Amino acid sequence: MTTEIYLDSNATSVVLPAAITAAADAMGQRYGNPSSTHATGLKAKVILDDARARAMRLLGVGSGRLMFNSGATEGIQTAVLSALVALRERRDAGETIGTLLVYGATEHKAVPESLAHWNRLLGLNLTLHQLPVDADGAHRLDALRAIAANAAMVCTMAANNETGVISDLSGIEAMLSDTGSKAYWMVDCVQALGKLKLDLSSTRIDYAPFSGHKLYAPKGIGMLYVRAGAPFTALIMGGGQEAGQRSGTENMAGIAALGAVLAALERGDTFRTPAELCAYRARLADSLRAALPGVVFNNPFDKALPTTLNFAVPGLSSRELMDVFDAAEVRVSAGSACSSSKAAPSYVLDAMGLPLWRSAGAIRMSFGPLADDATIAAACARIERCGAALRASCLIPSERTAVPHDGLLQLGVEGACSWLLLDAASRSCIVIDPLPDHVARIESYVRCQNYQVQAIVSTLPNAGRGMLIDALGRHYNRHAEADEYGWPANAASVALANGARAGAVRLGAQVLAALPCGTGDELRAYLLGTPEDGQLKAQAVRFAFSAKPAQQMLRDCTDGRTLLCPTRDEQNQFCLSMTTTPTATLANGVQLDSSMLDAFLQAHPEARLIDVREPYEFAATLSPAPAGRIALSVPLSRLAEYASLWLHETPVPLIFFCRSGNRSLKAAHCLRRLGHPQAYSLNGGLALAVPLPLAA
Ligand code: PLP
Repeated sequence: MTTEIYLDSNATSVVLPAAITAAADAMGQRYGNPSSTHATGLKAKVILDDARARAMRLLGVGSGRLMFNSGATEGIQTAVLSALVALRERRDAGETIGTLLVYGATEHKAVPESLAHWNRLLGLNLTLHQLPVDADGAHRLDALRAIAANAAMVCTMAANNETGVISDLSGIEAMLSDTGSKAYWMVDCVQALGKLKLDLSSTRIDYAPFSGHKLYAPKGIGMLYVRAGAPFTALIMGGGQEAGQRSGTENMAGIAALGAVLAALERGDTFRTPAELCAYRARLADSLRAALPGVVFNNPFDKALPTTLNFAVPGLSSRELMDVFDAAEVRVSAGSACSSSKAAPSYVLDAMGLPLWRSAGAIRMSFGPLADDATIAAACARIERCGAALRASCLIPSERTAVPHDGLLQLGVEGACSWLLLDAASRSCIVIDPLPDHVARIESYVRCQNYQVQAIVSTLPNAGRGMLIDALGRHYNRHAEADEYGWPANAASVALANGARAGAVRLGAQVLAALPCGTGDELRAYLLGTPEDGQLKAQAVRFAFSAKPAQQMLRDCTDGRTLLCPTRDEQNQFCLSMTTTPTATLANGVQLDSSMLDAFLQAHPEARLIDVREPYEFAATLSPAPAGRIALSVPLSRLAEYASLWLHETPVPLIFFCRSGNRSLKAAHCLRRLGHPQAYSLNGGLALAVPLPLAA
């Protein structure tokens, strides 16, 4: 049973059942080569002719050409090659040609990359020129007017893949005509197929590429329209298929499938009407507004395809939103390319002039014209589930105070980390080395769990606590006196294992002790542990926080099981042993294949399954843990806390898992480095785990 709700149709779509049937027929019954003149070939040729005839009618190809190919990227190459070869010939013949290769700032990367590639290969040396868009994502016609006369080629997509914004093709055409531009014009119609009415031969569009997989046909099949009279150069030469325009034996399964989709479009009995699609978008948008307070939509609904929503939520990264939706089995995509924890901003949204947080935090939710009522209703319920999971994890504001966490929390950004020490019973906490990037996160965490911050300390002097103090408001006593490390003037003191005395701030039953430790003594380290009779014995110190690797002074006050929590963590090690790292155990057998999991659990019934995804992913998850077991939620941000507990007990096998196996591998490596002999990572994560039926 699939519980997945697929809302990423601008990336690709499921294949229409009728298209699957048609493809199977083209591979099974009518498997001939359409170039063969015998009856088997002729039967296949009917499929080809039929699909082409439909496409020509639907797109208004008129006397233009329509060839099948592998998809839009190929169609874009062919169009660019055709236009640039013609430009070179005209120039070689002494004609003055435009010097600019113009492309919309929000074009799919295939367009500028192809322009640059063929410009270089053909030695044309024309200048690539980006046509700006306005705040709504529409091409700036005033900017086009200024350069149209000097344009050699103009590329303006029909609808954008990230925002669904529909281009004003009539306005662009009028501008090209008004300015007497001789530019060849390519319109990437990938996102328009089946969603916008196209009558290509009634326009001056020279080239229009399409991809079948954006509208319920399989990947690897596409079409290219070329206006009658527009220059054409074949990209692929060979057996002369497609009237010599695109050689290579045709992808008949793909063509048959695309033909079935085109037939459904022509009949008009399969896909939803624009009004129905608009209503679906409105329902999704209402759910997003209710579940994610402050959500902003990055695309103007009145100027975009009804099937695309693009949004951002203040305080949440696109990575976090992607992860929570994925846990709830709603497939969406980041509006931008994600790299590690930081998402790169989207060039499409940047071109629209949106602020960085909206561009880097963007999520695209897109559905196709096959969407139905039940799917949209289910998607709305899942969106609410995601909102609840984020509220419970203090990532978005909530009316209610969340259940407080206890123990250690690590927040990391680009290798640097802040640590929060939390005591749930007394609702008090201490912050170590707060980074400016973490201020908003720490503030919402503290407020949502109603903690009182006892101290904000740093390992370096004068590290700057002002932003956090301002943000914390009543949750921190800003009038309490503190030194240049943030260390409270009224701290008590405790005796350390090396005989020295150190300042100590109480946190429930534990204390945080400060000791000078590092170059010229200007660095400070902190020890967290439970004192007994005013003494913090070495074995009672659970954690040491330090900007430097363990120094003798720290070793003298701690024992082998104390964990060193670094304030820089470039390699995602989370925490380290105070003694030397046992690297020998790292290489072998850390990965556990999901096919082996059942057998492993039978052999080791005491093994623990540990979900290292973030709490909001855990809370939003629909499916049970692998092998139908109950899993413990230990996000990587809390790994140090749990690692300390696991190292103090008799070791049992620990099987970490996450969505893809990346985060769990880091966790397993961390535990192995700390000397745990039986830490494993579930290879491939939940994505590849054998699904179990859901309980009713
Ligand atoms: N153009 C647009 C607007 C697209 O959305 C895509 C696919 O994402 C492409 C071109 C490239 O299509 P394909 O990868 O199918 O060749």
